[in-house]
Amino acid sequence: MINKRLVMVPGPTPTVRSIENEMGRPVTAHGDPAFVADYKDVIDRMGKLLDCSGQVFVIAGAGSLSMEMAIANNLKAGDNLLVVSHGFFGDRFIDVAERKGIHVDTIKSPWGKTVPLDDLADKLKEKKYDAVTVSHVDTSTAVVAQIEKIGEIINEISPETIYIVDGVAATAGVRCYVDKMHIDVLLTGSQKAFGIAPGLTILFTSQKSLDRRKSLGTITEYYVDYEKWIPIMQDPAKYFSTPPINLIWAMQKALDIIEEEGIENRYERHEKQAAAMRKALECMGFTVTAEEGCQAPTLTNCYYMNGIDDAQFRKYALEEGIILAGALGEYAGKAFRIGHMGNADTYDFIEAIAALERALKRCGADVEPGKAIGVFEEELSK
Ligand SMILES: *Cc1c(COP(=O)(O)O)cnc(C)c1O
Repeated sequence: MINKRLVMVPGPTPTVRSIENEMGRPVTAHGDPAFVADYKDVIDRMGKLLDCSGQVFVIAGAGSLSMEMAIANNLKAGDNLLVVSHGFFGDRFIDVAERKGIHVDTIKSPWGKTVPLDDLADKLKEKKYDAVTVSHVDTSTAVVAQIEKIGEIINEISPETIYIVDGVAATAGVRCYVDKMHIDVLLTGSQKAFGIAPGLTILFTSQKSLDRRKSLGTITEYYVDYEKWIPIMQDPAKYFSTPPINLIWAMQKALDIIEEEGIENRYERHEKQAAAMRKALECMGFTVTAEEGCQAPTLTNCYYMNGIDDAQFRKYALEEGIILAGALGEYAGKAFRIGHMGNADTYDFIEAIAALERALKRCGADVEPGKAIGVFEEELSK
């Protein structure tokens, strides 16, 4: 007998039937007037949802392509970039930027903590940076950054600096308002808190970022060039490169779901279910890796207790019906990662916690079946 497999990695996240139906529709032409209207609707509604009065880009690609798109359109060789890194994905910007001949300075926090805001302020006073990058949630450490405060600091000390936020594991799950938070580029993908299959590269940009792109003249990148896409984003009847039609429809459905829930309610739900999940994990004996005060609402990383082997535990969890993610970097082998974002719901979480209990039991741990589920439900009902 084969169990269902609940995907509890921090992206891709579980999909719901109404979104799956959109992804399974017969494909149409990108010039089909009905599709053109849907594409336009998605672009307009996403801008409203994230409080972005600049240009929104929704094109085919992964989350990493949106990182590359942000760097390519806002920086040129010789420019100075400050990377604020809270882990593996924060560090990814270093590689993206250095390949383009951009000078990179980095401030890193120890894993599980955030960079002190005073350190960032000091850096910005010391040197003129053309851009700053920060991951909203770094999926390697499950740490959430104070993107609003960082925006205020940049805006106060160095208002010309382009503020780039990687929202791949946060957008639509963790509070973010682009204009209000002085963000110039919010980049994200489709497979995490939006709850769609992977395949969309999404950018929310400010007028400042669009002006910066203009000032660069011709850039070496082709597919991710803002200037190639702006005419299509404003009138999707035009063609530059074929859009991922079924994913655009899926996003339209995802937006219906988000609007029905209410974006603020969705942010609060993520905070609440994350707190309940952390309690349940601690009840089973795991230790949350992220420090209190910066624990992400979208996923949790936790250390194993003594005697639990990573590979064996995750193999048993898979056999019990849930797919977990291994930990990265300095946590590798010592911790696992569990996602709790997007359209994953209480039903999924109860299933997941039960499977964790069964997997632990098979590893020989002393667990009382159902206890962590009780803790989760108790916390959620508060
Ligand atoms: C997943 C993730 C990415 C990379 O997205 P891909 O779609 O895998 O390329 C980038 N940044 C963060 C914070 C992520 O969680």
